[in-house]
Amino acid sequence: MHESPATRPSAAGNPPSAKSVRVALEQRTAVLYTVWAVVAGLAHAAGAVPLPPGAGLVLVLGSVLTLGLFTFVPRRPTAGRPAGDSTLVAGQSLMGIAWATLYIWFAGPSAGAAVLGVGMYLSAIALALPGTSLPVLGRLMVAAGLASLATPLLQQPGLADVGLLTALLPSLVLVVLLTAMHLAARTLAGAREQLQARNAELQAGIERIARRAERDHLTNSYNRQSILEMVGREKARADRSGESLCVCLLDIDHFKDMNDRYGHQAGDRILAAFARRVRGALRTMDVLNSGGVPTATVTEQIGPAGRSALGRVGGEEFIVLLPDTSLRGALRCAERVRKAVVRRPFDGLHQVTVSIGIAEYRPGETVSSLIGRADQALYGAKHAGRNRVHCATTDGGPNAIVMPDLIKGAGP
Ligand code: GH3
Ligand code: MG
Ligand code: MG
Repeated sequence: MHESPATRPSAAGNPPSAKSVRVALEQRTAVLYTVWAVVAGLAHAAGAVPLPPGAGLVLVLGSVLTLGLFTFVPRRPTAGRPAGDSTLVAGQSLMGIAWATLYIWFAGPSAGAAVLGVGMYLSAIALALPGTSLPVLGRLMVAAGLASLATPLLQQPGLADVGLLTALLPSLVLVVLLTAMHLAARTLAGAREQLQARNAELQAGIERIARRAERDHLTNSYNRQSILEMVGREKARADRSGESLCVCLLDIDHFKDMNDRYGHQAGDRILAAFARRVRGALRTMDVLNSGGVPTATVTEQIGPAGRSALGRVGGEEFIVLLPDTSLRGALRCAERVRKAVVRRPFDGLHQVTVSIGIAEYRPGETVSSLIGRADQALYGAKHAGRNRVHCATTDGGPNAIVMPDLIKGAGP
């Protein structure tokens, strides 16, 4: 028995796919490597940061290999790691830090190399900014800071020429910049978390309101407008698919007497309990049909589990919508509902019976014609003595009929 119809569109948005996230990461990385290769090449050509022979080739080949590694290896099905995940991003960033360190090592202590080195480290960290958690980002920053501090210290021959402080100055600048970057990222992450929590709250609120708007408060079944809209949607679906569709009109027998005898409040409680019992019977049918206990034939089943619906259309009148359900299936279902209602008194006191009229959708007819025929059948059930199920004639004539052969096959 469905409480959230399949016909309603999902409110959730579509997050970017893992593949698109990975491709974006690969593109960013390729652009960064290319930019820095060009900048380093120009600096070398201009004599600002000369590199020893062969160093450029090692750096370019190494960068290309790194890109290839990250681009192709995770695509293999055996890699078993979701593409674009935090580990992959951190790995890319770490490799960027490694190549920046090697570049500075090759270039030796010089102002140009220091400036380019700071830029390369910052770029490598920036690569990880969109896809990494704050703790991982922090670790990457510590790695970049340590690599930047260690490299000049290890360059003993060059270090003697420029002095310790001058050699370490760019690294200290980098550390300050990384700290500022981390603080900014932390603030942003906090704001994003708050925003996400607010969005989730808002979404839950919207869903609550939408749910309330489509429900009848007393019986928690769909209200008149919702159930009629659902009948309209299912009619359109039946027109497209050619599947059968049935509606059952339920009317509690002699409900006015009950109100008169027990009072309006007791009447309200009976209405709520009635709806619960009908929903329970529909759920049982759903369970049976979803593989619980085999039913006689497929055509006797009510539609796919979870698509039946109960709506209150008037005081003590309800509609049960049964998509993809034949007349035989609807009759089985209605009989089960009727028996569930009479089986035992409500509140242990009020014996309630219900009359039910069923109509099967005739391709092309309007919703009001379909419901009108179910109403005719209900009228017939009332006149025949109440507490029974009648099916509408297919020609829409006034004489709603019972189908004894179907009732016989309806089972307990
Ligand atoms: P029948 O077997 O022919 O259906 O008889 P009935 O008495 O059930 O039908 P009728 O249409 O004469 O009376 C329906 C009654 O339902 C009248 C009204 O007092 C009662 N009713 C309608 N809405 C509510 C409601 O929200 N709460 C309560 N307690 N009673 C309601
Ligand atoms: Mg009535
Ligand atoms: Mg009634």
